[in-house]
This record gives sequence, structure tokens and C-alpha cells, in this order.
Amino acid sequence: MEIIEKAPAKINLGLDVLYKREDNYHELEMVMSSVDLADHLSFEPLYEDQIVIESNKAFLPSDQRNNVYQAAAIIKKRYGIAAGIKITIKKNIPVAAGLGGGSTDCAATLRGLNRLWKLELSMEEMIDIGMHVGTDVPYCLYGTTSFIAGKGEIVNVLKPMSPCWVILVKPQLSVSTRKIFQQVDMTQITHPNMKELASAILRQDYSGMLNYMGNSLEDITIPKHPIIQQIKSRMMKFGADIALMSGSGPTVFALCQKQSRAKRIVNGVKGFCDEVYMVRTLR
Ligand code: ATP
Repeated sequence: MEIIEKAPAKINLGLDVLYKREDNYHELEMVMSSVDLADHLSFEPLYEDQIVIESNKAFLPSDQRNNVYQAAAIIKKRYGIAAGIKITIKKNIPVAAGLGGGSTDCAATLRGLNRLWKLELSMEEMIDIGMHVGTDVPYCLYGTTSFIAGKGEIVNVLKPMSPCWVILVKPQLSVSTRKIFQQVDMTQITHPNMKELASAILRQDYSGMLNYMGNSLEDITIPKHPIIQQIKSRMMKFGADIALMSGSGPTVFALCQKQSRAKRIVNGVKGFCDEVYMVRTLR
């Protein structure tokens, strides 16, 4: 029997770094939503007690460095599963891009193995395992527009954001989330208001949402990679309602409601950047 799970990418409609905690993590408030750009994972039982990871991207690790491997290993150990598993990842989400690719694959693995091995894990149990792998995993387990707090473990589901087009542009550079957080200077960053953003989404107020969207980490990543600002400006020039960096970057996304305008933005950034996706919000 083979099980298939879809693992959608996330975007940050907002990200505020509140302060640095004593455990060296940053206390965050974020609003995330998922988009219709997804990895596809398939799960096949193996008789031999091993974890085999295969993927269409040769550069992805297939051992314990892969989030999917880690999730499977924790589940096997915690619940004493002696059977083996082969997990095949069809990777469509750009890697190290601010789109939560590794976290959403981990969440899909928890869902997939929960089904395959009939473990009946609660959301709390899956969140607990997920937090050992990555701080965006709890959000990815819910996958619907949410307000997130703590270091990522507190997830309050909001209403689905107003449906719209999302244009994602990934410049040819990788950004390490860990390194960006190491460089956060609390006296230098701006603080978008995440509570107002969440209220606008609950009211399904699209223009109110645009007013409160923002990302503290732009203040760190953009000075290092000015192309991000150039992409943002270009998207605004071609009619985006807003253009913002997702997570720690470098992907920039634009929102707009009309398909014709979304196509204009896509044409405006093509040639400037190779990796461009035009997708819909999910829920
Ligand atoms: P976030 O938005 O949560 O910061 P990201 O989009 O910036 O995530 P990922 O795509 O998750 O970053 O990749 C970060 C690192 O994780 C890469 O160096 C990659 O090699 C590693 N990694 C491990 N497992 C996976 C996976 N299943 N998919 C993608 N990257 C993975």
C-alpha cells in the first residue's frame, strides 16, 4: 500500500521579532498562509527496518540531515515501529527560500506515517515531534491561515485569507535562516503589528490586511541582498497590491486580486529573475 501526502509552501503575511529569549531563540509573532505550490511525498512500507529517502533533487540529503528522515526516525523510535519505510519526495518548492519547504515536508511525513501505521496521533503529539525538527512544523501541520507565537509552537487558526493571486519570485541565492536570526539587532528592526494583521484577516478585510503586512527580517536580509528590494519595487511597478519578503528570504511574493494583473507582474519580473511562480492562496 502506498500513501500520498501534499506538502504546500507557506508565505509570511507578517513576521515580527519581539525579543531574544534566554534560550537564544527569538520570541516571534507571525501570520502565515499556505499557497498552491507543493511538494508531493509518497510513503511505501519496507520489510527491512530502514528509512530510505529518495528525491527528484540530487542536492537534497537523504540521511538524518533531511527533515523527513528525522521525523520518520523519531516516530519509529517513540512508537517502537520495527517496519521500514521508503519516502519519495517530489520537490517543487524552492529550497532555503523562506517558503518552509523542509518544515512542510516534515509535517506531511507526520501525517503520512500516522495514517500508514494507524498511530492515531493527536495534533499535540505531532506538534511535539515536529518541534524537534523545525519551528515552522506546527504551522505546517495546520496549514491554514494562522497567527503563530512563541518560537513557532503556538498556533491560532484564523479565517482563510481573502482568495487572491500570489506571485513568488526566488532570486538565485540561498539564505540561511539561522544566520539571519544571529544577525538580528533588536534596536534596528521595525515591528509590524501582527495583532492588527490577524484582526483584518478575521474580518476578511483585504485592504486592511495589506496595511498591516510586514516582515522585521527584511531589515536584516535586504541590506545583504539588494536584489530583494529591486524585485519588490518591480512587482509594485507592475501593479502588485503589496510585495513582501517571506520568512528570512530571499523569496519575495506579491499579492493581487485580478488574474490579468498577476500575469502582468509575472511578465514584469521574468527576464529579471528566472524562478517565478504564479499560484493561488490555499485557505
Ligand atoms: P523556512 O522558511 O522554514 O526558514 P526555508 O524555505 O528557508 O525554510 P528549507 O527549504 O526548509 O528552508 O531548507 C533549509 C535547509 O534544510 C536546506 O539547507 C536543506 O538542505 C535542508 N533540508 C532538510 N530537509 C529538507 C527537505 N525535506 N526539503 C528542503 N530542505 C531540506
